[in-house]
Amino acid sequence: MNNAGFLPFPRILDGRIARAKLKKDLIQRIAELRKISGSVPKLAIIQVGSRSDSAAYISGKKQFAAEIGALEQHINFPETVSADDIFAKISELNDDRDMHGIIVQLPLPAALAEAKDRIMNAVDQKKDVDGLTEASIAAWSEGKPGAMYPATARGISELLAYYHIPVAGKKVTVVGRSVLVGRPTAAICAAAGAEVTVAHSKTEDLVAATKSADILIVAAGKPGLITPDHVHAGQTVIDVGTTPVSDSTVPGGARIAGDVDFDRVSAVLGTSGAITPVPGGVGQMTVLALFENLIDAWYNQHISA
Ligand code: NAP
Repeated sequence: MNNAGFLPFPRILDGRIARAKLKKDLIQRIAELRKISGSVPKLAIIQVGSRSDSAAYISGKKQFAAEIGALEQHINFPETVSADDIFAKISELNDDRDMHGIIVQLPLPAALAEAKDRIMNAVDQKKDVDGLTEASIAAWSEGKPGAMYPATARGISELLAYYHIPVAGKKVTVVGRSVLVGRPTAAICAAAGAEVTVAHSKTEDLVAATKSADILIVAAGKPGLITPDHVHAGQTVIDVGTTPVSDSTVPGGARIAGDVDFDRVSAVLGTSGAITPVPGGVGQMTVLALFENLIDAWYNQHISA
């Protein structure tokens, strides 16, 4: 990666810089709202089992909560818990006026696969800061004002706004259509006035779909999917992909790879283009955006109610 001014490289959309500034804004917002409401924003994190990747994500969320002055409660059920017990806990949290957001850490163990939808949909929509209940999905799919978008989509939108990259009136192509990333990202861009195309594994002409975009957002989880053939000079390229790959040249022998061939794509984008690095791009924005959702939920429950 090289962003020296005299070389024909695109602008790097650095998630670390955007996150640091937006985190300060969040801390200030919490301090102001605490004075008015006398309450503190609080997030419940429900985990089932002890997957190490889930534990790492949860620890990142707990640390961020502590840094911004929010509270969290981590409820860790054993893998053998029944769906009814989880359901009862969520009902209790729904009724707790001091709990403003509830998230269920995914994936759930295979034994709960059948109950997954019922568990997710048990979360009260106004506390659904992951934006993954059916009611929330319907709201953001329809672009309803105040809809709670899943954190990665909101994080991408915040990153574009931080770097003053306009979305309204632009052609945006999103590669990927998952309910967690692709669909809500397409929806948040459409709500902002973009002309959105969604591409996926069945898209016949991926090059045409990606090349025609002003802003290309890639969330496929396929390292190296986007090559110089898929882009043109001046585009903004947002790489959401985070796939662990082995690499004997780095300490530990593994690294996280994005979906975009960063160096070769950067050379095509040129100085009028922009691109996110992996790591250090979208990934930096996701936890921040989750807590932005929490603060909105807290505001709605305590102040605007
Ligand atoms: P997912 O559920 O596996 O969805 C992947 C999507 O990409 C699907 O819609 C799939 O199409 C599409 N796709 C797969 N191969 C393709 C190809 N060759 N050409 C075009 N489209 C293709 O994954 P996800 O949960 O959305 O996550 C996507 C990536 O983002 C992963 O690398 C994940 O780790 C990463 N991620 C990053 C963050 C972050 O904060 N940075 C957060 C969440 C996820 P079909 O629908 O046709 O199968």
